[in-house]
Amino acid sequence: METSITTPTHETHSESLWTLVLRATKLRCPACGKGKLFCGLLTMNDPCQECGRKYEREPGYLLGSIYVNYGVTALLVLIMYFGMFLGTDLTGKQILGVTATFSLLFPLWFFRFARAYWVAMDEKFDPWPNEAEAREMAAEITKTK
Ligand SMILES: [Zn+2]
Repeated sequence: METSITTPTHETHSESLWTLVLRATKLRCPACGKGKLFCGLLTMNDPCQECGRKYEREPGYLLGSIYVNYGVTALLVLIMYFGMFLGTDLTGKQILGVTATFSLLFPLWFFRFARAYWVAMDEKFDPWPNEAEAREMAAEITKTK
């Protein structure tokens, strides 16, 4: 019986923040910059098909991207609100309509990018594989030999 084991092909080091942001914006793997993060509209290529980097390192790991999505949406709504309040003649109800519609639609579009930025931030502060993950992978390789 043949088992495929993913082993990291990249050295554990942290890329520059700029590189990680650029890779996330292009929806690419933060570790190698080559693998595509998503294979469908919402489905992730996990692990990376180029370097084996695991994105969902433990159950619920990617839920943190909700904070990214919420934060960016809230910031943009704030800027839009003051922009329209101070720069246009729109009524309060019109401004509410525009910002409410935006705050419902934008997070749906931004979902993939929020995940990409979350994974990139994760790569910056806790590059994969960390010590425990490396031990776990080594144990799995030993077990199957
Ligand atoms: Zn990769």
